[in-house]
Amino acid sequence: MTSELRKPTRTLIVEDHALNRCLLRDLLEWHGHEVVEAIGGEDAWTALDLEPPDLVLCDIQIPGGGGERLLARIRADARMAEVPVVAVTALSMPTDRTRLLDAGFDAYVAKPFDRRALLEVVDGFVGRR
Ligand SMILES: [Mg+2]
Repeated sequence: MTSELRKPTRTLIVEDHALNRCLLRDLLEWHGHEVVEAIGGEDAWTALDLEPPDLVLCDIQIPGGGGERLLARIRADARMAEVPVVAVTALSMPTDRTRLLDAGFDAYVAKPFDRRALLEVVDGFVGRR
């Protein structure tokens, strides 16, 4: 395991489904990342406002206006305009992917997510920092 060699990333997981949230948290923590959790747009914003994370993994169908509204709010705030936001969603039509990337999400991961694929996306953003 090489996680000791990587810079720990503080990742905000925004996901209203408890099991998915748990799966994401366990996967990231197991790989040495620090995790903050939110259920919807409002508590996500509270966490973001307190301390912008290194990365956001964002479900789209969430309470409080949906993932796209949260993304817009993040992009409009100079403190977190550069924070990568990855859509992690069960909206898996090709048109959904295009729409979300056009909306400004930095990457797109379909649910149910492949653990290795998700980690590759996360590590891709960690490596940029
Ligand atoms: Mg959801």
